Amino acid sequence: MSERPRLTVLSGPSGVGKSTVVAHMRKEHPEVWLSVSATTRKPRPGEKHGVHYFFVTDDEMDKLIANGELLEWAEFAGNRYGTPRGAVMERLEAGEPVLLEIDLQGARQVRESMPEAQLVFLAPPSWEELVRRLTGRGTEPPEVIERRLEAAKIELAAEPEFDETLVNTSVEDVARELLALMDVV
Ligand code: 5GP
Repeated sequence: MSERPRLTVLSGPSGVGKSTVVAHMRKEHPEVWLSVSATTRKPRPGEKHGVHYFFVTDDEMDKLIANGELLEWAEFAGNRYGTPRGAVMERLEAGEPVLLEIDLQGARQVRESMPEAQLVFLAPPSWEELVRRLTGRGTEPPEVIERRLEAAKIELAAEPEFDETLVNTSVEDVARELLALMDVV
């Protein structure tokens, strides 16, 4: 049997559907542990502290960074996001499959600090479809969407840096493919 890559990073442009894929996957496989990030972004309607994110103030984020409590962190479209290191390490030491859903800058940091991690890129079926999804979300003002589209162009160009690419044509298919890459099924 091949050595199982225990840490998987799922990345890809904002709006591509990472959270939807992960939510679908975890409904059937709750044993896949998803790291909950800290963010300075304000919660969207329905988002819960400690479930979707740990919503923190700028000061709290400064402290997390200064104390080395984040495995990686990045500024994305005007907010900071980071992965709490302790919880991830505990799960990895327990031998559990761990999934991080983070942006490109974070994925690059993980590649540096944990070269054994598996980096998976989630790509949209087309640029037009990504624009449609980001615009249609209806949760962000136009200037935020614009920043996210700018970031998306940069993220799409980085796809060759990843170990695997999955194209998000169907949530079910991509969730299944991701599980297979994580060796969960
Ligand atoms: P959103 O605001 O749409 O929830 O997330 C914006 C972007 O930040 C997404 O690409 C998401 O994957 C990324 N992100 C979420 N948590 C983290 C994190 O802990 N670290 C990094 N680097 N990116 C994150």
